[in-house]
Amino acid sequence: MSVEYDAVVIGAGAIGTSVAYHLAERGLKTMLLEKGDIASGSSSHCDAVGLICDKQPGIDTKMGQYSIDYYEELAKKFDFDFEFERKGCLYVCETEPEFEAASEYMRKQNADGYPLRMVENKELCEMEPHISRDIYGALYTPPSGCIAVSPYKVCFAFVEEGKKLGLDVITYCDIKKIDLDPKTNAVSSIETDHGTIKTKRIINCAGVWAPEIGKLVGLDIPIEPRKGTNLVSEKSERLCNNKILEYGYMMSKFDGINFKRNVSKLVEDQNIAFNLEYTKACNLLVGGNRLFRGFDTRTEIETVKAICERAMRFYPELADIKCIRTYSGVRPFVVDHLPIVSDVDSVPGFYICAGHEGDGICFSPFTGKQMAHIVLGEDTDFDISSLDFARFAK
Ligand SMILES: Cc1cc2nc3c(=O)[nH]c(=O)nc-3n(C[C@H](O)[C@H](O)[C@H](O)COP(=O)(O)OP(=O)(O)OC[C@H]3O[C@@H](n4cnc5c(N)ncnc54)[C@H](O)[C@@H]3O)c2cc1C
Repeated sequence: MSVEYDAVVIGAGAIGTSVAYHLAERGLKTMLLEKGDIASGSSSHCDAVGLICDKQPGIDTKMGQYSIDYYEELAKKFDFDFEFERKGCLYVCETEPEFEAASEYMRKQNADGYPLRMVENKELCEMEPHISRDIYGALYTPPSGCIAVSPYKVCFAFVEEGKKLGLDVITYCDIKKIDLDPKTNAVSSIETDHGTIKTKRIINCAGVWAPEIGKLVGLDIPIEPRKGTNLVSEKSERLCNNKILEYGYMMSKFDGINFKRNVSKLVEDQNIAFNLEYTKACNLLVGGNRLFRGFDTRTEIETVKAICERAMRFYPELADIKCIRTYSGVRPFVVDHLPIVSDVDSVPGFYICAGHEGDGICFSPFTGKQMAHIVLGEDTDFDISSLDFARFAK
């Protein structure tokens, strides 16, 4: 096979499928290449939420809000149902110092116009009748800032809707080489076990594997895998009404956020931050943690014990609900917690769209739309200068 495409997207996770859809929507003859199946990477080993309140105030939150609203638009536009749902979110604070830290966070977000509010113990117990009665309070985000989707179905929705616009897809495709023009260093073709594809534009959306693709064109892309584990319960009666996270989640995600948690050494060592949500099928997802373990996605028994310990602190009735399986995945971590959504000056026609860490599902629609603007040489409709690859230049 030797064919020509306007653009080739590598990686069919939440990011690559969105980028491919948006390029096809803009009229580019687009090919999506995936080494496994659609959504076989991080995008099928994660939670299902898009939140503004798990993000740093500023650009991080703004991208979240943009994406959440855009998801709603896509849910109405697409025939493919990806289980879009708006819901409230409670960031539960076990102690007064945590409540204070959350209040400070709320004030910053309120100043930017986001309607987060603090909820004291009495109201929290009314909102969440099954929560431990001694939890100090919570930070509440209304459904305008919190959604749930099926991450797996999001990927398939972009692929199926993209196909209607002419998108081509090859799964189980092994990429051998990227050819560059010897004079200009610009992208000229990509060689795969399915043949060579001529193209002037390649978009690297390979998540935690983006550095491997970067090496094919001589780039060092600073993305590392950051592991997380979830427990899945049997179907159960409603235990919680909102998406629940502990405010300590901020500490597990960002360095430099510190308040004393009253937790065991096991919970501390496993960097556990409790979170709980219902899937549409009424199974509970119970998480989670953040650890650097390379590419090892085997579930660790110590992690499972620590998640259970922490989860039962907040919802004691979880002790009576069976866990039917566990899974672990890796988040594409970048040291400044911002994704890379960028062209590359030294390799014309090569683009990077990866490193979304714990926000790739949330940011997927936003990223795809902005990447299409970049690839087409247009102004983006959002200032994404801080997502430029050039920020890593020495
Ligand atoms: C436990 C856990 C919970 C999470 N919870 C949330 C959450 O609630 N909300 C949220 O927004 N995010 C969450 N995330 C993060 C989210 O999963 C990721 O940010 C997102 O999936 C990244 O998407 P991606 O498309 O960049 O990567 P991936 O989904 O990994 O896609 C990359 C694709 O590239 C393919 N690929 C790699 N190398 C090649 C190659 N050489 N050739 C062809 N294809 C290749 C891979 O097979 C893969 O399918 C969570 C992650 C974890 C681990």
